[in-house]
Amino acid sequence: MPFTASEAEKALESESRRLARLLGLSHWDIAVALGRCEPDAMAEIQINEELSYASITIDHFKHSSVKEMLGSLRHEFLHILISPMYMYVEVLAEANPEGVRLMPELWERLEESVILQLEKTDIGRSNP
Ligand SMILES: [Zn+2]
Repeated sequence: MPFTASEAEKALESESRRLARLLGLSHWDIAVALGRCEPDAMAEIQINEELSYASITIDHFKHSSVKEMLGSLRHEFLHILISPMYMYVEVLAEANPEGVRLMPELWERLEESVILQLEKTDIGRSNP
C-alpha cells in the first residue's frame, strides 16, 4: 500500500463531505470505511433508501493511490444519487415475480452505464 490508512481516511472524509454537498445528499448518513471487498470489487455499497443511510467500503488493498480511491468513492456516491430509481425494480418484482427474474441484473447494467457517463462529467472529477 503506497499510502497510509490514516492518509486515505482523511482524504475520503473530506471528499465525502464535498460530494454530499455537490450531489444534494447532505441529509444522508453515509459511512465510509476501509475494508475488504468481494474479489471483483474495488469498493462496495449498501444503501437503505428509507433511512437515507449508506455504508461504503473501499478496498484499500486494491487501489494504488489515494486519488484512485477517491474515484471509487465518487462512483459509490453516484449509486446513492440514483438509488431512488431502484424502487421501480422492486415494484415490478412484487407485481410479477416470475417475469422480472432478470430485472435486477439488467438494472445493474443500466445503473453502471449511467454512472459511467456521470463519471465523465464534472461530478466525476476530483477536487476543483
Ligand atoms: Zn457501480
